[in-house]
Amino acid sequence: MTLNPNSIEARDVAYHLHSYTNARRHEETGPIVMASGEGMYVTDTDGKRYVEAMAGLWSVAIGFGEKRLAAAAARQMEKLNFYHTFTHKSHVPAIELAEKLIAMAPVKMSKVYFTNSGSEANDTMIKLVRYRSNALGQPEKKKIISRIKGYHGVTLASASMTGLPNNHRAFDLPMAGILHTTCPHYWREGREGESEEAFATRCANDLEAMIQAEGPETIAAFIGEPVMGAGGVIVPPKTYWQKIQAVLKKYDILLVADEVICGFGRTGRTFGCETYGIEPDIMTVSKALSSSYLPISALLINDRVYQPVADQSSEIGTFGHGYTASGHPVAAAVALENLAIIEEKRLVEHAAEIAPYFQERLASLGDHPLVGEVRGVGLIAAIELVTDKQAKVAMQPPGSMAAAAFAMVQKNGVISRAIGDALAFCPPLIVEKDHIDTIVDATRAGLDELQ
Ligand code: PLP
Repeated sequence: MTLNPNSIEARDVAYHLHSYTNARRHEETGPIVMASGEGMYVTDTDGKRYVEAMAGLWSVAIGFGEKRLAAAAARQMEKLNFYHTFTHKSHVPAIELAEKLIAMAPVKMSKVYFTNSGSEANDTMIKLVRYRSNALGQPEKKKIISRIKGYHGVTLASASMTGLPNNHRAFDLPMAGILHTTCPHYWREGREGESEEAFATRCANDLEAMIQAEGPETIAAFIGEPVMGAGGVIVPPKTYWQKIQAVLKKYDILLVADEVICGFGRTGRTFGCETYGIEPDIMTVSKALSSSYLPISALLINDRVYQPVADQSSEIGTFGHGYTASGHPVAAAVALENLAIIEEKRLVEHAAEIAPYFQERLASLGDHPLVGEVRGVGLIAAIELVTDKQAKVAMQPPGSMAAAAFAMVQKNGVISRAIGDALAFCPPLIVEKDHIDTIVDATRAGLDELQ
């Protein structure tokens, strides 16, 4: 395809380096340039309209084009466009949002710390945990355990916790002191004849063996997404979180729930922790916190984390960390309005009510010859593509089938996301049955074209 030299696409190719994009291929194909969004839909500069079945990047919970958020941003921009939260300074939107998040938390939390992205929140988590271990006089207690296929972001430290080869390979990662335990994907990792519960026990045993091999006194925290998102929407096997938490308790290891995707309704409860009975010491949130209208993220920490840090602030120095835009007043005001809309429109309840339809309709794709597994919970799901259902193998090279299916589905007017050999779906929480029908029908038609 040749791009018109003065087109917006050609200018993008000329000047813009993209994330997660094959740069050479991009020079040939150019981008799809999005121009506007409304509700469940986005429209590109050619006027083609798509159902955004990924809520952007798992994030636009309330849907696109909500004028109330634009108004909230404008109001705050006019009142106090910026102030920081360093050295005893604060501002009303950050205070109100912190108060709101503590009230919403599924377990008793003590304080909120603001950051600007999921990566920064998780990176900050490592620093808080290290500071805490030093404050407690346990300088050897620094290692973090995450999971193969977990996704926690892309800074050097959060990319290290991410358990995907593409995030490590060319960056000399993971950093020392970050370990990865078993991926809890029953369909892929479960053994012949092994029940889901037995597989969960094996995952917990693997974790315990790792802790013992490393020395329990060296492990500070375990991080996990209640449901893995960017690793391919991996729903934990029954009893998994119960068993993992028992191991962490036994060895006095902090539990960090990365709620960046699950938070604010995705699994049909406000937090993924509620869906799975997880009682974290730290939670990281972002994405649906502001529906990604502006960048903002946060850590919620309990007293086990806060008190030692506070106790030692004078002794070992103030918590020497923070971003200029941490808790940015405009982003915080937008997040507050977004959370108000989620409550007023009962979007978490709506997600729970419509989830069975979403999951059943997607599950109906399971009879397609190219679909090996359909998995999901609430309003997040994936279909795993295979060429041989029995052998659970996909076309070579890895990912090529999902990339082709993604393109077909997109041509049919639905945006999904290709992850490995899977196609993921994570629509805005405002999704209705007719959108779900469009998503499933466009996907089946795309798969049929691929056969
Ligand atoms: N944690 C999870 C669970 C995520 O899904 C993501 C992004 O997709 C991140 C962290 C990183 O967030 P960000 O892209 O805002 O840095």
